[in-house]
Order: sequence, then structure tokens, then C-alpha cells
Amino acid sequence: MRVRVLGCHGGETPKHRTTCFLIDERITIDAGAVCRSLDLDAQTRIDHMLISHSHMDHVKDLALMADQVIGRRQTPITLHCGPETAETLRSSYFNNYLWPDFTRIPTPDAPVMKIVTHEDNDLTFLIDLDEERAGKGSNGSLLPGQYQVTYVPVTHPVESMAMIIRSATGTILYSSDTGPTKSLWHAANKENNLKGLFVELSFPNHMQALADVAGHFTPQTLKDELDKIEGRDKIPLFVYHLKPSFYDQTKDELMALKLKNMHLVDLSDEFQF
Ligand SMILES: [Zn+2]
Ligand SMILES: [Zn+2]
Repeated sequence: MRVRVLGCHGGETPKHRTTCFLIDERITIDAGAVCRSLDLDAQTRIDHMLISHSHMDHVKDLALMADQVIGRRQTPITLHCGPETAETLRSSYFNNYLWPDFTRIPTPDAPVMKIVTHEDNDLTFLIDLDEERAGKGSNGSLLPGQYQVTYVPVTHPVESMAMIIRSATGTILYSSDTGPTKSLWHAANKENNLKGLFVELSFPNHMQALADVAGHFTPQTLKDELDKIEGRDKIPLFVYHLKPSFYDQTKDELMALKLKNMHLVDLSDEFQF
């Protein structure tokens, strides 16, 4: 599984882009930086978008992307959402006021974007880039082009889904925006092929009160969270979502933790798992 960083910050300036990761050219995690990072052909190749939550820094490029891939694709782009995120996108985003309802355009039967809601028994689901193929390989293993995704609700002012993404070659974890959580690390500790942990960090330590109400990590809470992961030092840690306004201070405090096997994600990064 190849993961290309399109955006890895908690804000946007000419040097910072909001959160967005591209998996094997066809799937994105969130939609914070699709349009600034990919040309039209590359945008058109995206079939699935894993939307962690409804905050604007994670969904903002859905709007322009929907508009500009229209007429260039035969099938809808599938937006995988939890129930609250799905409802917010329908009622407050593609609502024909803020933006046209691209889940019914150009026609309700063949729209440019399709929202799929994952809840209850459907929080673990399969994405198969080969839609002609029926089912997994022998003994239930994932084949190239197949991804088994599990959404795990985490701690944020709105519904926010962390995700565990398994492929034929390895598994990664994406924390989404979150404050301290038990459920995510409980789920992580059950995985046996974790190759990378993408974990958010937003504010410096002196902004702990804001981080707590906004559902984000500071370096000091991040450190406590990582202690909940079994064998953490052996699993590469990728830290993202630093706020541009406090970037240098947050980075200094992160580095002072001297975390093993840790990389602060940068816009030019690509990873192979
Ligand atoms: Zn965010
Ligand atoms: Zn958020």
C-alpha cells in the first residue's frame, strides 16, 4: 500500500495544507487537499474517499472536486462516512445552498458522488478496486486492490472516525482528529500487521485547555496516549495535523519527547507499507 501525503496540517497557508492522504492513487483519507495537490486526471482516478468527520479542514475539497470531475467519470465517487457525518454532508454541505447537491447531479441515478453510511455492524467494510471480482482470496486473505477498513469512533466535538486500513501488504492506522481515547488503542492492540500509525497532534502544551474542549492532542497528551499501544516503539509513528499558527513550538515540544521511530509528516512524503 502506497500512501502519498497531500495535506498534513491543521490549517492552510502557502506552506501548509489541510489533511488528506492518497492511497494507491484511487482512495483518499479525507479531502483537505485534493484539488491543490492533484491534477484533473489524478482527481478523476479517485474512486473512494474515507471521510473521517465533517469538519471543514477534512471535507473542503469535496465541493470543487465534485464540480470538476463531472463528465469525466462513469461511476460515482463513494464517500464512506459515519452516520452523523453523512447527515451533515447532506443537510449542511450538498444542500443546494452552500453547494449544489452533487449526490443527485447530473442525475439522481448516476450522481458524481455517492454517500455510503457505515454504522453498527457495517463499521468494518471491504473496498475492492476491482469491482468485477467477487470476494477475497482463498483463506480469506486480502488480494492486491482490496482494503478492509474499520472505523473506530474517537473523541471530538462531532462524530469522528479513526480508521484501520488493512491491505494485502500491511495495515495502517489513522487517528482522525481526536482527544484522549481508549477505544482506538484497544482496536490497535488487536491488529497483528500494523506497519504505521498516523496520529494527530494539533496544539502546543500551553494550549491544553483549548485542545481538551476541541478534541485534539498536545505533545503531553500524545505521549500518554502512545503508552496505551503495545509495542509502540516498533511501529513507525507518523505525526500530522499541527496547526500552522503554532507549528514551530508544537514541533519543538514533540521533538523534546524523543519518541522512538517517529516521523513528523511533511507534504512531500510518500510511504510504502
Ligand atoms: Zn482537523
Ligand atoms: Zn476536526
